[in-house]
Amino acid sequence: MRLILLGPPGSGKGTQAQRLVQRYGIVQLSTGEMLRAAVAAQTPVGIKAQHIMASGGLVPDEIVVGIISDRLDQPDAARGFILDGFPRTVPQAEALDELLKKKHIKLDAVVELRVNESALLQRVETRVAEMQARGGEVRIDDTPEVLTKRLASYRALTEPLIHYYSERRKLLTVDGMMAIEHVTREIDRILAAIGAVEAKAAKKAGEARRTAKTGKSGAKTAARTASKSAAKGTGASGKAARASRKAGKPASKRAKSRLARPPRVPGSAPPERPGKALKRSRKSELKRRDG
Ligand code: AMP
Repeated sequence: MRLILLGPPGSGKGTQAQRLVQRYGIVQLSTGEMLRAAVAAQTPVGIKAQHIMASGGLVPDEIVVGIISDRLDQPDAARGFILDGFPRTVPQAEALDELLKKKHIKLDAVVELRVNESALLQRVETRVAEMQARGGEVRIDDTPEVLTKRLASYRALTEPLIHYYSERRKLLTVDGMMAIEHVTREIDRILAAIGAVEAKAAKKAGEARRTAKTGKSGAKTAARTASKSAAKGTGASGKAARASRKAGKPASKRAKSRLARPPRVPGSAPPERPGKALKRSRKSELKRRDG
């Protein structure tokens, strides 16, 4: 499995990446972590990067692209990886496309963690407090001032990647405002639906979902996810539609699930599925007749 995790600082990319690493036995490639290690070791890259990082700026593209290129060549990346914090700009994404092409690596999906910006400061404050409680070292760039700058940089330079990957049919969006466990489950669900995870892992994820009181069969759940992705017109739409067909959904339903839906406002309640409203109106119609 080869993924990119996209989201602003404090969106939970690191946490979710670690969970994916444990579940699927792949490696997390975090440019932020690698740069922090380089700063700690005072390597030439670290020395160059430290002031930029401390002020919340972006380290030059050639440095991060070079780091990622070397890291992708390590044997442990062969089983799969999650890119966390890279790419952060469109030129970095273009450089990554080139790299992957050269190395004959195919990207499965880009998972965007969509969060409500007003919650981010609080989340980072919690991260700092937890780190202090553990006696760990607090990140030098986890201050309200620097976070404001990192957020502005995310909006201006990284957010365009949502469009970039959506156009390339790679983007899958997850509501990052849910509890950590729910976000993980949702990521598992969409990865299973697009076939990015192996059958065994997908089955495990499906079982976890079923025990989480959906009461639906794995195939039905996969179909539901598949149609969600297809309706979003996201990357996995082709694969998702195939999953939907495999799950035995009738053609009429498949067609319906491909209809575009209005985009979800982060933090808002999920829009009601058209089928639900229809069912309810049918029910009340029956009641009316009965009564
Ligand atoms: P992160 O841990 O991803 O929040 O990154 C911490 C800091 O490392 C960022 O604020 C940047 O200064 C630098 N950094 C990490 N990844 C990149 C990247 N892909 N491009 C440029 N700078 C980066």
